[in-house]
Amino acid sequence: MPMEFNSPTKYLVFLLCAFLLFSPVSMYAQKKDFVLVLDAGHGGRDPGAIGRISKEKNINLTVIRMVGDLVERNMRNVKVVYTRKTDVFIPLEQRASVANENHADMFISVHVNSAKSKSAYGAETYTLGLAKTQANLDVAMAENAVILLEDDYQTRYKGFDPNSVDSYIMFEFMMDKYLDNSISFATYIQNQFVGAAKRYDRGVRQAGFWVLHRSACPSVLIELGFISNYNEELYLASTTGQREMAHAIYNAFVKYKNNHDRKLGYNHAADNKEVAVSTPVPAETTAAIAMEQEPATAEQSRQAPAKQMQETPDQPVFKLQIMTSASKLKQNDAGLKGLKDLDYYQEGGLYKYTVGADTDYNKINQTRKELKTKFPDAFIIAFVGDKKIPVNEALKILNR
Ligand SMILES: [Zn+2]
Repeated sequence: MPMEFNSPTKYLVFLLCAFLLFSPVSMYAQKKDFVLVLDAGHGGRDPGAIGRISKEKNINLTVIRMVGDLVERNMRNVKVVYTRKTDVFIPLEQRASVANENHADMFISVHVNSAKSKSAYGAETYTLGLAKTQANLDVAMAENAVILLEDDYQTRYKGFDPNSVDSYIMFEFMMDKYLDNSISFATYIQNQFVGAAKRYDRGVRQAGFWVLHRSACPSVLIELGFISNYNEELYLASTTGQREMAHAIYNAFVKYKNNHDRKLGYNHAADNKEVAVSTPVPAETTAAIAMEQEPATAEQSRQAPAKQMQETPDQPVFKLQIMTSASKLKQNDAGLKGLKDLDYYQEGGLYKYTVGADTDYNKINQTRKELKTKFPDAFIIAFVGDKKIPVNEALKILNR
């Protein structure tokens, strides 16, 4: 139907719409922000690799927060999204979902490496691909092993077994359309690590990281250095080291982003500037991060396992799970019916409250009977370390 302007009001409305549609203001608004997803590896009950004085999860978080802070203060048209901003456990799959739900344009995952050999050191950046060396495969296996901390990993990860070499064959036949961009960004990062932060260059590598595989955008996984090398740990645990690494990642991102914009025909280079390491990070940022971290305990430091996930499992422990809550309960919460000395673990975003902890199944079963009137739905669960395992599996281990 042809448009008619039978009243002056309609004509004015038409003019207004036409103005909004073609004005520079609306064109600017239509230009989508570049979405940068920042992923600090591990967190909560998953500490990642543990060193003598620090834990991987805390280094990852501090560095990623510094990167995000630099981007937010110095770049325009970039939206920063974190997978975690505090010390919480997040499943791998959920990290990739954060990227996909936010339509990420780049995904950066930060980790710290660990090796049996105390002399290994240096920084490396991974993109998705088939590992060409055993060392690269080992890194991917160690980082993917966190999957095993999740209850329903067999279904959630479609049979992918982080510890089986066979599971990694899928990466050989995978067409990753984001690979070129991922590699170019990874190269910028390594150049910055070597040039500005004076780190030893272990290069750009490929391996099958689940979190990279599931993120539908260019993505990199950075191993800042080795926590198992005491000198490197001292550097990575220091504010100077963390700031240098964060600036290196940030400056590499500026290069990547400006290049990306040029290809699309617009130029933000004037807005997005590289920042020298000497530029101070606001005190509140470092203070906020420090508040959220607790130092490694003396005991954990002594153990210093290559990766938490690869420790030889200790004895299974049984507990009685009495209830689940969406939020953390107060000690005197009515739902706890006066029970004291409760413990809880977090799973699927829920707080699960438990009573007792014993390697003797019968003792916990006795507790279950005693509490049956108060908590008729309570049931026994089993843990090996921080990992929940099926009760029958725990009994099998004990009967070996
Ligand atoms: Zn890690």
